[in-house]
Formats: sequence, C-alpha cells, structure tokens
Amino acid sequence: MAEKKKKTVKVIKIDADKCNGCRACEAVCSAFHATPKYSSTNPARSRIRVVCEPLKNIYLPVYAGEYTPAECSGRDKYVIDGKQYSECDFCRASCPSRDLFKEPDSGLPLKCDMCEDDPDLEEPLCVQVCLSDALVYEEREEEVEEQESPEELEIGLEELAKKYGKQKILDAVSRIYGNREN
Ligand code: SF4
Ligand code: SF4
Repeated sequence: MAEKKKKTVKVIKIDADKCNGCRACEAVCSAFHATPKYSSTNPARSRIRVVCEPLKNIYLPVYAGEYTPAECSGRDKYVIDGKQYSECDFCRASCPSRDLFKEPDSGLPLKCDMCEDDPDLEEPLCVQVCLSDALVYEEREEEVEEQESPEELEIGLEELAKKYGKQKILDAVSRIYGNREN
C-alpha cells in the first residue's frame, strides 16, 4: 500500500456578503500576470472575476478553475438570501459558453495559480488588496498518497518480467516509445 505524506493545501475563502464590487482583486491579478510583471492592468486577463449586479446587490468573486472543452447540457439557478444568481455565476470553468477566464489575445484558458512566485508570497495578491475581507487565505495540511518510489518501480518491473518474460517487456516498451518517436 502506498504511503501517505503531508501536503499543504492553499485555500481562499470567499464571503460574498462582504464584497463591494471594487474589483481591486481583478486589477492586481492581471497586473501580477502581465509580461513584464506589473506593466499593465486588464481585468480580462485576471484569474478572479467579480460578478457585479448593483441593482440586485449581487457582488460575487469567482476564481478561474479548470478548462473544459464541453458546455453543460443543463443549467441551474440559485436563490440565496432572496438574491437570484444566473446559471453560470458560480462556475469556475473556462468553457465555450462564455468569454470568462480566457486570455483575450490568444483565447487560451486562464487558471488561478495562487500567485505562484519565487520566493512565495505571504498571501495571494487578491487577498492582500481586498480591504473588505471578502477574501481570506488559509493553508491546511492534508494527507495524500505518496508517488511510487524508484525502488517500488523496480520491484513492479521484476514482477512483470517474472510473469511475462524480460523480452516481452522490452518489446512492449520499444513498441510504445518507438511509435511515439516516429
Ligand atoms: S477586492 Fe474584495 S471587495 Fe473588491 S471586488 Fe474583489 S473581492 Fe470584492
Ligand atoms: S490568487 Fe493570485 S492568481 Fe489567483 S486570482 Fe488571486 S491574484 Fe489571481
């Protein structure tokens, strides 16, 4: 059985009730990811977007998550505290249904990287600039299964060689990787 090891999981908690729609988080995120860094701001390049509907008092920060090549076939509506949110408001995906979370020039999907930098930032920048405390950064430890070590790989290969014979394993490897190189 694979061994478990500790991993630090980074989380940003969103309190939509505290968001006032100032969009400072969008500005700083786009500046951090500009090339060169901090050379420009453009919310369309931000990895966080704020759904703003002032007449309904809706301000909802949403982080860019995974890319998906397919649209949903069904949509949901959410009513929370009497406010009705539209179907895609809570969705984090970069998907074909909408322009959100797509790099405006190339159309490539955007995804929050928690402001990866070297050295690490103390807190992600969107959290730092949110003066309303709508965004709160947390780290927690989780146990995950450790990747196979090289020793385990060798034991696995030995077992396969015993079962199928060394030549068959070598033939399979050269077939797979030989095909890839062609
Ligand atoms: S910086 Fe904070 S208050 Fe301003 S839009 Fe972003 S989440 Fe909302
Ligand atoms: S954590 Fe960093 S990369 Fe992610 S949305 Fe906030 S500013 Fe952008």
